[in-house]
Amino acid sequence: MNESLCMVLSAPSGGGKTTLIRAMMARFPNLKHSISYTTRDPRSDMTDRDDYHFISDTEFDRMVKENAFLEWAEVHGKRYGTSRKDLKSLLDAGYDVVLDIDVQGALQMKRIYRDAVYVFILPPSVDVLEERLRARQSETEENLRRRLINAKREINEFSKYNYVVVNDDLDTSVNQIESIFIAERLSTRRVALRQNIKKRLKG
Ligand code: ADP
Ligand code: 5GP
Repeated sequence: MNESLCMVLSAPSGGGKTTLIRAMMARFPNLKHSISYTTRDPRSDMTDRDDYHFISDTEFDRMVKENAFLEWAEVHGKRYGTSRKDLKSLLDAGYDVVLDIDVQGALQMKRIYRDAVYVFILPPSVDVLEERLRARQSETEENLRRRLINAKREINEFSKYNYVVVNDDLDTSVNQIESIFIAERLSTRRVALRQNIKKRLKG
């Protein structure tokens, strides 16, 4: 087990992952976002230019073949994956890491990486989710419909996660996700690894 904390966030599209991750990164300087690889295009306003490595289908195929992904999945018709090498480098450098991945990817990861903490962000309702997705103006109507259909399937999986945050009032959600992070950093196993407690007690 590594002393670093790996936190996996899932939510339906528009659920608030990006917003919550940005708030956490501003609060915790030792926390890094694992930048995924995707075959989808950057948003037209480029607000997500730092959130992904945007790659072609051919490059994605090559990475799959080389077993470069810890997990990957097709989500809303495009592929997304987490690089083993990138995640390992962050953890080896002593950073805590937050990953924003879909339900299929999170469940793949949970089977092989039980030390990570799995958090589901639930929207207050599907209607509010739709309002927020529309207000973000990031999707075509067709994409938005597809994301809302997928949302219902994704929401059904929330009970497989360790924690659930209902993202109603933003300040409350930020507080809750930060509290989960702080509590998990203080788990006995992580503190013992960090502080080398046994060695200290030897006198
Ligand atoms: P995701 O990354 O899960 O797709 P975003 O973080 O982009 O979701 O959030 C979707 C939209 O909803 C954004 O425009 C964001 O500003 C807004 N939003 C997120 N959380 C809240 C909240 N608690 N209250 C109101 N608006 C929110
Ligand atoms: P978006 O296109 O809105 O940025 O992301 C669409 C979906 O892809 C979200 O549910 C997001 O969590 C998921 N996603 C982003 N990166 C990864 C990844 O590396 N692996 C998997 N499985 N899903 C990802």
